[in-house]
This record gives sequence, C-alpha cells and structure tokens, in this order.
Amino acid sequence: MLHIILFGPPGAGKGTQAAFLQEKYNLIHLSTGDIFRYHIKNNTELGAKAKAFMDKGQLVPDSLTIELLESEVIKHADAKGFIFDGFPRTSAQAEALDNFLASRNEAISALLSLEVPEAELKSRLAERAKTSGRADDADPKVIENRIAVYRKETEPVKSHYQALGKHIKIDGIGSISEISERLFVAIDAL
Ligand code: AMP
Repeated sequence: MLHIILFGPPGAGKGTQAAFLQEKYNLIHLSTGDIFRYHIKNNTELGAKAKAFMDKGQLVPDSLTIELLESEVIKHADAKGFIFDGFPRTSAQAEALDNFLASRNEAISALLSLEVPEAELKSRLAERAKTSGRADDADPKVIENRIAVYRKETEPVKSHYQALGKHIKIDGIGSISEISERLFVAIDAL
C-alpha cells in the first residue's frame, strides 16, 4: 500500500496537491484540519474542543488528534493507501502513526515535504483568506502563530522520517501543475 505524508507549513499547498495525488494514485485523502472543520460545522463535541485551539493557531492536543486519525483510517478498509495531509504535526503523532500502521503490517512510504519560503506562505494565506472563510487565515497574528508552531513542533517530524530514509524535499514554488508533476515523479520513483 502507498502511504504518503504530504508535509509542509500552512499555505504550502498541501490540500491543493493532495486532491491531484488522490485522483492519480486512487488514495484516500485524510486532512485532519478538514475533519476538524467538518466537526465544527456540525457542532459536535469534538468540534467544540478543536475550535478553541484552531482559532488561536495552536495545535489540537495529540490525544484527540491521534484518536481521530486512527478512527478515520479504520473506516476505509478497502483503501489502496492514504495521503496524510496536516498529520502528523508533532513527533508524538509521527510515532503513533508509525506504530498504528505497523500494527496493521503497513508503513509510511514517504514524507513529501513542500518547501516554500515564508514570505510566499504569508502572501498565499492572505490570498486564501479572501475565499476560504477560515478564521485562522484572516488574522495575521494567528498566521504568525501557525508558522511559529510549525517551526517548533512540526518541523521535527521531518527529521523523524529523514532518519528512516523516507524524507523527500519537493520545491513548492511554481505553478500548481509544475508542483504536481514534481510530486508524481517522486512517488513514481518509490
Ligand atoms: P490545517 O487545515 O491543516 O491548516 O489545520 C488547521 C488547524 O487544525 C491547525 O492550525 C490546528 O489547530 C488543527 N490541526 C490540524 N491538524 C492537526 C494535527 N495533526 N495536530 C494538531 N492540530 C491539528
């Protein structure tokens, strides 16, 4: 099975590119951010808990996030593989994901890391805020915080997969189709 982590800071283009990968490789796209937003929209208890963190640009606690992710994977018994988008975001989540997959005799195939300079991220997020309706895109302070949290808590996940020989850097600057092509080349070479 193909299990891809689509990695990168907020605004790197993970969601956009995941849609292309999902279609080309017939994978299930799991975005923890999208799942939390679905819960918020439907006024669930989990949604209320997650919203308090998301609105400030903080991470939702690992325990909640890991449980949610595992329950989503289990729902797709016939999947050919998954694109994990926005997960794992901490070293603890990476370890939990590896252990969970190992318990199913599976493993992460690769972490594809979209590399985009910070100034470009901020301008992309400001552009996205015009149409996304996301409170966390609209406030520059929240954006700053999301990027800071990424650097501190999430970037170490790269080293985790680097140590396993599974980290692949992808240039995240260019047209959407140029970036998809780079991802396809990297996946086809696995
Ligand atoms: P995203 O849609 O990936 O930008 O995520 C939006 C927000 O959802 C993040 O800023 C976090 O508050 C929360 N979130 C999404 N995925 C995770 C995760 N794996 N761990 C913790 N919080 C998350």
